[in-house]
Amino acid sequence: MDRRGILIVVSGFSGSGKGTLMKELLSRYAEKYALSISATTRQPREGESDGREYFFKSKEDFEKMIAKEELIEYARYVENYYGTPRGYVEEQLDSGRDVILEIEIQGALKVKERFPDTLLMFVTPPNVQELKSRLVGRGTETMEVIESRMRRAAEEAQGMDQYDYLIVNDDLDTCVEEMHTIIQGEHHRSTRNAEFMREIKEDLKRSLKGEI
Ligand code: ADP
Ligand code: 5GP
Repeated sequence: MDRRGILIVVSGFSGSGKGTLMKELLSRYAEKYALSISATTRQPREGESDGREYFFKSKEDFEKMIAKEELIEYARYVENYYGTPRGYVEEQLDSGRDVILEIEIQGALKVKERFPDTLLMFVTPPNVQELKSRLVGRGTETMEVIESRMRRAAEEAQGMDQYDYLIVNDDLDTCVEEMHTIIQGEHHRSTRNAEFMREIKEDLKRSLKGEI
């Protein structure tokens, strides 16, 4: 079967638990998945380090990356730029790993347009009260930023149905396994295995002719 990696976009409201979910998925299945590290102009949060959560860039440097076409996509989100560097994604897909982009909806739709095989997954918490309490509980943003992220969530909810799968992050452990199962199932989609099917057809013809 075709073992080129699948490009996967994971989006979800800020505070839905995407980051936590991705960390857990990668720690359980490190050999199968690679997480793309984005570039951003936002300031690092406490505990974040350059090259691990993000490549932290100045606005000037980010704009240079855009000009040199080093990004697969980029978007502005709540006053900052965020974008996906191209090199790592291509390298990992070629090596057979599924590559996950944890990006917001504008970027997600741009990636899907450019690479129609992309698998789009949208993560939500079980309900809105839980979303707010996770954002507050994380303790990394001011109330003002939390309010702007809730407003942004209301906008993003309008695009949820353009995604291929909805992932409800209620119990973390269940959610990680659901996500893994969906992705592994996706490898069996017939359209992702055109080359394998072509070879089987050819070999059957050759077998009938007594060639193999
Ligand atoms: P995002 O990356 O979507 O902004 P985070 O991964 O930072 O969200 O999660 C937001 C907060 O919710 C964090 O404090 C995290 O520990 C918590 N959280 C994540 N997943 C769950 C879950 N399934 N149940 C309860 N809390 C969770
Ligand atoms: P945060 O500031 O909470 O880390 O991220 C804010 C939002 O930007 C999240 O929805 C996150 O998924 C999104 N994001 C992170 N990296 C990228 C990227 O490379 N491109 C786009 N379009 N969005 C990104």
